[in-house]
Amino acid sequence: MYKAIGYAAQTATAPLAPMAFNRRSPRPDDVAIEVLYCGVCHSDIHLARNEWGMSVYPLMPGHEIVGKVTEVGEKVTKHKVGDLVGVGCMVDSCRHCEACAANLEQYCLEGPTLTYASPDRVDGSITMGGYSSSIVVSEHFVVRIPEKLDPATAAPILCAGITTYSPLKHYGVKAGDKVGILGMGGLGHMGIKFAKALGAEVTLFTRSASKAEEARRQGADHVIVSTDAEQMEAASGRFDFLLDTIPVQHDLNPYLQTLRFDGIHILVGLVEPIEPAIHAGNLVMNRRVLAGSLIGGIEETQEVLDFCAEHNISCDIEMLDIKNINEAYSRMIAGDVKYRFVIDMATLEA
Ligand code: NDP
Ligand code: ZN
Repeated sequence: MYKAIGYAAQTATAPLAPMAFNRRSPRPDDVAIEVLYCGVCHSDIHLARNEWGMSVYPLMPGHEIVGKVTEVGEKVTKHKVGDLVGVGCMVDSCRHCEACAANLEQYCLEGPTLTYASPDRVDGSITMGGYSSSIVVSEHFVVRIPEKLDPATAAPILCAGITTYSPLKHYGVKAGDKVGILGMGGLGHMGIKFAKALGAEVTLFTRSASKAEEARRQGADHVIVSTDAEQMEAASGRFDFLLDTIPVQHDLNPYLQTLRFDGIHILVGLVEPIEPAIHAGNLVMNRRVLAGSLIGGIEETQEVLDFCAEHNISCDIEMLDIKNINEAYSRMIAGDVKYRFVIDMATLEA
């Protein structure tokens, strides 16, 4: 066993605080990793505060992990000591169901083992995430960080990146398509970069008029302030795809109306009931599709990392001292981060 330290929440209302714990010794197919950087995802906040009703405590968040391999089990072939590697939102799955066989482990029919707050499939212990000094993960769920990428700015690709890349690819976004990105936070700003790299004409929908200039710098061709009914109406019937990263309940109807016929609205930010209700006419009358998407499989996570290296795409980050993690959560809720906090694990004191 390894002695490890990290930041965990002891209850849904407690701030994150340092915690000492043990990591297992590597199993034959495991890779032990010294965590160098870990991105801070809005899901970490939802889960630390039990906003999805599925949290178990103590809860140590973190699923945008980049680190160095320190030890490998005897059957490991994919990674070796010293390699720069990444771990995203999952650390295991059943590996034989239809979804796993299709490299879509995130939709494992038995449920994937999440990187934190999830029971380990072998020993039942609760997984602890990347806000920590080390992590031990089965090699199948460990990806390679391309040399061209900076390790700190690459960390958020493991969740924010793959979550926005995967639906754009799945629905075949291509050159000339009109794509709207809803919300410019960690996910949204990556969505803009990917849609642009795929050749789309990209529009940011934001509540924050002040983000307009910044959005253009990220690659957006247009900006619509979503609180301005006139601007929303003027966009009626214009879009092929909408990628919705808004993390709270919001009225989908005005957005659906901006889709052309056969247009697709992809939800990634919301896992709660949709309120207010959708007017079915907004779908039926124009054969529009409302869909959802969850992160991406391991193979596709490697693909997006390689895509970022090839297209010089990186995440805009603000480096964080782990002691300021609670303040960072407040700032994220206030929309005050450009556009992802990444914890520098060197700030974690033994
Ligand atoms: P951020 O907090 O970084 O960004 C969210 C953005 O949404 C904000 O920047 C803001 O953009 C907009 N927003 C925030 N609050 C509101 C509000 N009250 N009304 C309207 N818009 C709002 O979050 P992330 O990008 O990290 O995550 C976004 C969501 O995606 C979260 O719910 C997260 O849990 C979820 N998620 C889902 C995944 C999946 O696999 N499906 C994977 C990872 C995350 P602006 O100011 O431009 O309006
Ligand atoms: Zn995430």
